[in-house]
Amino acid sequence: MVTSLKGRETRIQTVYRPGGKRHEAPASDWVPTTCRMCLVGCGVLVHVQDKRVVNVIGNPDSPMNRGRICAKGKSGIMNHYNPNRITKPLRRTNSEKGIGIDPKWQEISWEEAIETISRKMRKIHEEDPRKLYLQTWGGSQEFTTWLGVLRPAFGTPYVQTGVSPTCGKTVHSIQFLVAGGFHQEPDFAYCNYLIDCGTQMGVATREGFNHQVPDCAKARERGMKLVVVDPIGNNAAAKADEWLPIRPGTDAAFGMGMLHVLLNEAGIFDAEYLKRFTNAAYLAGANGKFVRDPASGKPLLFDRSDGKAKTYDDPTLKDPLLEGEVEALGKKARPAFELIKARAAEYPAERVEEITSIPAKTLRRIAREFGEAAQIGATIRIDGVDLPYRPVCLEWDRGPQGHKHAWHHTWALAMVNVVLGAVNVVGSIHSTDSASNWPVKKWPEAGQDGILMSSGSTHRGGGHFTAFPGRTPSRPERWDLFELFPVAAHTRTLVPEVYKNSGRWGIDHKIEMVIHSPGNQVMAGWGDVQAVVDWYKSIEMVVGFGVEINETHELDDIFLPMRTYM
Ligand code: SF4
Repeated sequence: MVTSLKGRETRIQTVYRPGGKRHEAPASDWVPTTCRMCLVGCGVLVHVQDKRVVNVIGNPDSPMNRGRICAKGKSGIMNHYNPNRITKPLRRTNSEKGIGIDPKWQEISWEEAIETISRKMRKIHEEDPRKLYLQTWGGSQEFTTWLGVLRPAFGTPYVQTGVSPTCGKTVHSIQFLVAGGFHQEPDFAYCNYLIDCGTQMGVATREGFNHQVPDCAKARERGMKLVVVDPIGNNAAAKADEWLPIRPGTDAAFGMGMLHVLLNEAGIFDAEYLKRFTNAAYLAGANGKFVRDPASGKPLLFDRSDGKAKTYDDPTLKDPLLEGEVEALGKKARPAFELIKARAAEYPAERVEEITSIPAKTLRRIAREFGEAAQIGATIRIDGVDLPYRPVCLEWDRGPQGHKHAWHHTWALAMVNVVLGAVNVVGSIHSTDSASNWPVKKWPEAGQDGILMSSGSTHRGGGHFTAFPGRTPSRPERWDLFELFPVAAHTRTLVPEVYKNSGRWGIDHKIEMVIHSPGNQVMAGWGDVQAVVDWYKSIEMVVGFGVEINETHELDDIFLPMRTYM
C-alpha cells in the first residue's frame, strides 16, 4: 500500500520509494514540504525524529515527482545541517572586495541589518529607483516571487529571474511564436519517434526529470524510437536506438537538411495544418515581405476555390494556395511555404554531411522515417473525442541554444515539427503554459496579421512581453540593453559586459544596490567571472541571502541568513 498525505491521521504511515524500499514512521513525523534544492519544486516528505530531520523522500502524491527524489534533493539534509551554515546577519568590515579576500565579517542584529538595508533603499527610492538591481534564480523560487513583486512596487526595471547558461533562452520566444507557450515537452504518453537534439530530455536532464524520465522509459518500453543528435556520446546517446554524432554548432544545418528531405524530396508535410493554423499560405512578394491588401493592410492569401486573393480573415476563404506562384495585385507572389521550401533546398543531404558530419544517407533515412511516423492526417480517439495524432517530436534544448546564432539553430529545428503539424497535438511536442484559467486566464489568440499574439510570456517576473510582434527597438536606457532585443526573453547576462563600457551607452543611472537570492550568481550567472566581480565591486551595497558563504557572498556588504526548505 502506498499511503498518502490523506493517511497522515493514522499512527503509522508507510511510504514506498520507487524500487520498493519501505519507510515506516509515526505519521505525524512525516512532514510534507516542497524541495527547494532546484527550481523544479518536487513534493517531498521529511522524516523528523526527536526534532531532528533524519530522512527525506519523494512524496507519492506530488504530480511533479510521483514519489521520486533526486540525489540533490536528498542532500537537502546536508544543507539543513551544514556545519558552515550561517545563522546571524553579517556585515563586512573589510572595504577591499574580491573572491578569496576575507570580508572580515561582523555579526549584527536583524534590526541593524534591516535598518541599514531599508535606509539605503529609501534613499535610492527617492533619488532613482532604477539604482536597485534584484537577482533571483534557481531553487529560490520564493525569492522569485517576492523579489518579482518588489520590482514593480519599488519602481526598478531590474529583476533577474534567470541566467543565461542555465535557463531557456530561445526556447521561450520560439515556443511562443510556434505554439503560444513558455517551454516545450514531448508527449511521452503517445510519442512514437523522439529525436533529442542537443538535449537528454527523458533520459538524464531537464527540469521535471523525476516524472519525465519514467514517462520516457515507459514510452521506450512500448516501442518509442529514440534518436540522439549530439556531439557527445552522453547518457541519452548510450540508451538511444541511434546516436548521430554532430559537429558542434551545426544544428541549423541538420534542421534545414531534415526540412529539405521532408519538403522537397519526400513531399511529407501537413498541408491542412499549415493552411489552417500557420501563415505558410500568406503570399510574399519579390521583396520577401507579405503582400498586403491596400485597403486594410492585412496579408493576402490566394484562394484556389475561386482564384481570388483574399485577406487571411476573409470568411469566404476556402482553400488557400500553399505551393506555386500566382499574381496578386498585379505582381508575382508566392506563399511563404514556397520560400521555406526554397531555403531548405539550399541544404541537400550531401551539403549537410559536409557541415554536420552526419552521413547524407543517414539524414535521408531519419528524415523519411520521422515524416512517415508522423502519420499525417491521422486522428486518435481519447475519452470519446477524436483528436489530431502526430506521434513524433524533435526535441532540442541546451546544446543548440548554447551556440552563437542560437535562434537560427533552434528555429530550423522547431520548423521540422511545424511542417509535420506535430505541435500541441497528441504525441507531438507540447507547449507548456500555452493556455490556462489560473492564476492568469489566457488562451492562444490571433493578433496582428492573424498571428499568434497573446498567451504565454517570454519574460516572467519583469512584465509580460510577447514575442510577436515584438518590441520596437529603441535607444537603451537599461544596463541589460533590453531595448535592443525585440523578441528576447531576457538579456540580463549583458549587464557586467555593458558596465565595463558604461560610457558608450549613455545610460543615465548607476546601479547602487543589489539584493540577491542564495544562488551563486558570480560563478554561475554569467560567463565572464572577472567582469561580474568587477561589476559587483562597483556597487555601493550588495545584500545577499544564503545558507553558507559562497564566492558571491564574498562580495556582499551584508549577508542575511535564510531558512532551508526544511
Ligand atoms: S529535481 Fe531534485 S533537487 Fe530539484 S526539486 Fe526535485 S528533488 Fe529537489
